[in-house]
Formats: sequence, structure tokens, C-alpha cells
Amino acid sequence: MGTAALGPAERSAALDRMASQELDVVVIGGGVVGAGVALDAVTRGLSVGLVEARDFASGTSSRSSKLIHGGLRYLEQFNFDLVREALRERSLLLQRIAPHLVRPVPFLFPLTHPGWERPYVGAGLVLYDTLGLSFGYSRGMPGHRHLSRRRALRIAPALKRSAFTGAVQYWDAGVDDARYVMTMLRTAATYGADVASRAQAVGFLREGERVTGVRVRDLESGTEFDVRARQVVNATGVWTDDIQELVGGRGQIHVKASKGIHLVVPRDRIHSLTGIIMRTEKSVLFVIPWGRHWIIGTTDTEWTLDKVHPAASRMDIDYLLDHVNSVLAVPLTRDDVEGVYAGLRPLLAGESEETSKLSREHVVAHPVPGLVMVAGGKFTTYRVMAADAVDAVAHGLDRRVPPSCTDQVPLAGAEGYRALWNSRHRLARSSGLHVARIEHLLQRYGSMIDEVLELIERDPSLGRPLSGADDYLRAEIVHAATHEGARHLNDALTRRTRISIETFHRGSAVAQEAAELMARPLGWDTEQVKREVEYFTKRVEAERASQEQDTDREADAIRLGAPEIVPVALPEGHGV
Ligand SMILES: Cc1cc2nc3c(=O)[nH]c(=O)nc-3n(C[C@H](O)[C@H](O)[C@H](O)COP(=O)(O)OP(=O)(O)OC[C@H]3O[C@@H](n4cnc5c(N)ncnc54)[C@H](O)[C@@H]3O)c2cc1C
Repeated sequence: MGTAALGPAERSAALDRMASQELDVVVIGGGVVGAGVALDAVTRGLSVGLVEARDFASGTSSRSSKLIHGGLRYLEQFNFDLVREALRERSLLLQRIAPHLVRPVPFLFPLTHPGWERPYVGAGLVLYDTLGLSFGYSRGMPGHRHLSRRRALRIAPALKRSAFTGAVQYWDAGVDDARYVMTMLRTAATYGADVASRAQAVGFLREGERVTGVRVRDLESGTEFDVRARQVVNATGVWTDDIQELVGGRGQIHVKASKGIHLVVPRDRIHSLTGIIMRTEKSVLFVIPWGRHWIIGTTDTEWTLDKVHPAASRMDIDYLLDHVNSVLAVPLTRDDVEGVYAGLRPLLAGESEETSKLSREHVVAHPVPGLVMVAGGKFTTYRVMAADAVDAVAHGLDRRVPPSCTDQVPLAGAEGYRALWNSRHRLARSSGLHVARIEHLLQRYGSMIDEVLELIERDPSLGRPLSGADDYLRAEIVHAATHEGARHLNDALTRRTRISIETFHRGSAVAQEAAELMARPLGWDTEQVKREVEYFTKRVEAERASQEQDTDREADAIRLGAPEIVPVALPEGHGV
């Protein structure tokens, strides 16, 4: 079975099919949860449609810390079930479902209190490693180890000697969150799901109290149509309450947003062979290896402003720099920061006012017949959330639906990945690309690397790196448009590639070249190319300016100054 592409023709066909038949289930939201629900449902034999108002994964699911983890700090809260569940998912994703996308990541925990801290952290990590083992899968990564200060400095010379007394190293896993979601959607489409981005749910179809489908606006053409479905799933993360408002009445689930920001700095600014984790007053701070960069995060503050473009303020950035500099021998400055991104955690509203103490667990509810809501949780446990949501869907369908089988369904590109990895030198010879380039491609596409290599074979100029972002080949931009559902320049530079956070120019220096590459597959004329570049450049400028502002409110106001290339249907401030 070939992997379905998500190009423009496939999008049109998916929208036509959604408009012309009654589906078993239509999913609102193309983040990790919605994509997970679509894959779970279609692999149980249900007919499935998914609509995403913006780009796939453009909400929280491209803005996380990119860790597939048990959450070490939940151990401190004695939330063992949550940790166990997440570690089981970590093993599954790493070893069976997406070995091409999920990778082990080492972390060093510098100890600062002589005496009690080493046995305390050590005991926690024994438990963490053990919980990660107990499911018939191996952990898929080494266990933790204790290090003296001298040995820790050998693997992390960047640490300030006086800032710690010794260390413990342990392993977790990392992922490119946006690519994971897009790959999951390609997988769902391959099994027969119809998926479309820039398609917004603007209302519900009702028969009496019962929800019988959604009214969808194709934001690219401005046309509206009904999608009839026996069950509708609201998987809209921090927009959950807005969708509930469209249905009317009080929802059972309330979701509030907590902002977390990250900085990206070049790898050479922190001399270390391992990631670093350290405590902060409220939570933890990670320094995460990310290709030729480090990601530093995160913050945790309440956010009630624009949900589409949460803005990082100067205060957020200084907070992270101050904390990370407390352990670094050579402090980082704002000039070292290549990229900044901010995301909103969808937190179930709870008793505690402090957002970092609210639950990360998920809830599934059936607020009215025909509608299922799923919210909360975290990226790592999306599969469990999706299975629970589709169980609720099945409950509402009057026929027997098989149980979830996504623990047995590798994502597109996983099959054959290890064999290709072992053959990477041969692939390098046959393609004429450097082996390091092949490795980079394999870790982004897995066995779908063929699709990219074929483009280069047909047009060798696509085998050149983008000038100004040489981690990426020109072919990858074309492929993003033809196969990966990128419909605008921002999609390709922000989520299919991560050029907008991995370069000091934040993508502006490659915008023209990338837009020209996307023009042919997307049918853009020179006017549209110009428009795409203009919108992208304005976005980068607005983001930079917002990051100079002291407060959230000022940062938000400046960020909102940059227009949307495809505006959503409801007025600004409504939250959708
Ligand atoms: C700073 C930060 C760090 C994090 N780090 C981690 C981590 O390291 N590991 C981990 O496991 N988890 C992490 N998380 C949590 C994780 O990222 C989220 O739980 C997860 O991405 C939420 O996915 P979602 O699908 O629920 O929401 P989203 O990704 O936001 O998806 C919802 C989608 O619904 C769409 N939508 C809204 N309204 C409509 C409409 N009317 N019609 C159509 N579509 C609509 C939106 O455009 C959006 O794309 C982190 C979160 C944050 C903020």
C-alpha cells in the first residue's frame, strides 16, 4: 500500500467526499489528538473525516518541548499511573510506531545539595527506569547513571563548576512534534481517512438535541458545506470551549490555557554531549539537544489573550536566560537566541489556581448525543486519549466497533526504516548525497525518503541545500507542498521544516527561494509568491518586535499586528 499524499488535489477530493456522504465520524482539530483520533477510528474500520481550521499541528502540537516522556516531576506528585502510562507509550512510539521520528535523548541532572539530593533523585530515577521496563517491551534506551562532578564536566564542559556538586544522567525521548502529527495524518489518509487543512468547523448540524454533523467553511475558497456524520469529535485543545459555545449550553469540559515559551540557540553555544534538566521554582527547565541546536524551555504562566499566536515577551525570554545561565560557565545572551516559540497547554480547569499544578490528564465526555469531546493530556499520551475518544464514538454508533489497534499500526515511514538506516552509506552512494544528509532525511521521512530522492532524480537542482538554511534541501520544500499538506510558505518554513526557529534570520532569507519552489505544485502566480513572502516577512517582524515587549499584553498587541494569510471565519478576539 503506497502512502497517501496530502497535496492540493487530495485536499479537494477529501473535501468533496466529506460533503457528499454521511461519515461515521468527523473530527474537528488537526493537532496530535485529532490526528490520533482519525487514525484510531479509521483503523477500526470507521469512515472518517478531519477538518483543521489552520495548518495541521499549527496549534499547541508544533510548540511543545518535543519530549516523549513519562514526566519525571509527576513522580514527585506520586502520580505513578500517569508516569507508567506515558512510559509505556514512550516504548511503543520509539520501538514500533515511529522509530524514524522518536529518538532517545540523554539528560544530565546537576545536583546542587550535597547529602540528601543524590539518594532522592537516584531513587526517583530507579523508579522511572523500572516503570519504563514493565510492559513486555524493553525500555529502548539506557538506564540512569550516577556521575561525580568531574565526570559530569567531561560530558558537559559547559556547566559552571561551582553550580553543582555532582550529577545523575538519565534518558528520555524526543520528537519533531509537527512532523509527527503530519505523518500521522498521512497514515490515517492512507487507511482511508479524508483530511483537510484550512477547513474550519463554523457550526453544527442538529436534529433536535442530537448533533448530526458540522458546517465547514473551506477557508481557501470561502465556500461552505455540510459534513454529515453519526458522531462528531471535538479535539480542539485550547479551543475546546469555543467549539462548545457553537453547540450551545454549558460544556462538561473546561479548558484553560497556560503559556510555555522556548528558546533555540546554536549547538556550539553550549558545549555538552547531553541535554540538561534543572529545577526551577515552579517546575523544571530543559536544555534539549535539537539537531545543530539546543531548545531551552519552558515557562508556565496563565494566558488569556490571542490563542492562535501566543506571544513570548521579553520577560519570558529573560526568565529562561537567567535560569539557564545559573548553571552555565559562559552565560548566554539575547544575541545567542536564534529562535523563540510559544505554545499553550490545554489544561483541564481544576481547583488549583496555579496552572502548573493543574492536571495533565485527559477527559472524554459526551455532552450531547452525537458529540464527543476529548481534551487535556499531553503529546506523549495522544494514542491513549484517541482510543478513549473513539471508544466513546463507538458507544454512540449502533453497531459493534472493534477495539483500538493503533498499538499495532506503525506510522508511514516506519516500515523498513531500520533496514534503510543500516543501508545509509549505499543510499548516499546511489543518490550522490552525503551520508549525513541521508541520515537527516531518514530521521524526517523514514522509508518515505524515496519520495524526496525521486524528486531530486527528476530535477537535480532540487538536491541543493536552500541558500540560507543549508540543513534542508530544496526538494524538501517541494515535497512539503506535494505530499505533506503545506499550503502556504509559513507551513513549510515553520512546521514541515523548522527554519523559522533554527536560523537567526528566522526564515526571511530563504522566503523568496522557498516560495518560488512551492509555486509550481501549488499553482501560484508571481503575485501569490509575492504575497506569501510579504505575509511571512511581516509575521517574522511582528514576532521579533513582540519579543522586545515587557508584558504579555504588549507582546500580544504587537504580534496581532501581522495579518493572517488565510483568516479564519470568526472575528478576531472570538478565539477561534
Ligand atoms: C510549552 C509546552 C510544552 C509541552 N511539552 C510537552 C512535551 O514535551 N511532551 C508532551 O508529551 N507534551 C507536551 N506538551 C503538551 C502537548 O503539546 C499538548 O498536550 C498537545 O500538543 C495538545 O494537542 P491537541 O491536539 O489537543 O491541541 P492542538 O495541537 O492545539 O490542536 C487543536 C487544533 O484544533 C484546531 N481548531 C480549533 N478550532 C477549530 C475549528 N473551529 N475548526 C477546525 N479546527 C479547529 C486548531 O487550529 C488546532 O490546530 C507541551 C505543551 C506546551 C504548551
